[in-house]
Amino acid sequence: MSVKQNYEDVQATLQAACKRTGRDPDLIHIIAVTKYVSIQRAKEAVDAGVLHLGENRPEEAIEKYDAIGGTATWHFIGNLQSKKVKKIIHAYDYIHSLDRLSLAKEINKRATESAKIKCFVQVNVSGESSKSGVTPDETLSFIEKLADYPSIEVVGLMTMAPLTDNKGILRETFKSLRELKDTIAAKNFAHAPCKELSMGMSNDFEIAVEEGATFVRIGSSLVGHDKEVKA
Ligand SMILES: *Cc1c(COP(=O)(O)O)cnc(C)c1O
Repeated sequence: MSVKQNYEDVQATLQAACKRTGRDPDLIHIIAVTKYVSIQRAKEAVDAGVLHLGENRPEEAIEKYDAIGGTATWHFIGNLQSKKVKKIIHAYDYIHSLDRLSLAKEINKRATESAKIKCFVQVNVSGESSKSGVTPDETLSFIEKLADYPSIEVVGLMTMAPLTDNKGILRETFKSLRELKDTIAAKNFAHAPCKELSMGMSNDFEIAVEEGATFVRIGSSLVGHDKEVKA
């Protein structure tokens, strides 16, 4: 399938989910996750009209950025080692995996207050030990502490749902994240407007959109796979 065709299919699914729930599709951003594909294929996504690209390995993240450049908005979506922050910070507009103060400190050091880095706090809603992220209980106090890092703007919360076909579990996960986001947004923190929800991947984005996602991160169903994924 061409990326263009996949993009049309994803948009149609997203629009149907919006229609069912009375949401405005224009408020939902589709991030093409290009970690499984070549630079060429990622370029196809941009040519098909995709505005947001997501990567999860710093080296490849920069290779793709250097080849494709600033026509897209760049999202770093994976676990990020503090020592790699300086590699990506000039290129990436959003970081979806802020989950510890040591990382916040490093991001703050490398960014500037005039060009804040937009961050999602990653929350481990499902509590699986294999997943990173702060616990739902820790999220508010973690975000309060982020006020000490003026180059960081907490735009929202991110989660990865469990790998399951159980729609009830998926829906509960996304709903919990939305409720947590609403609690934090209601505090009106200057450093943490927390209005956005980064949730939903190829298998579950439809449910995530129904539950309030504003950024969906889609790899397989949008750009597919054209290379081996290194562990
Ligand atoms: C790989 C990845 C995705 C996309 O996964 P697909 O199931 O291929 O859509 C989304 N979010 C994160 C954090 C990822 O690592």
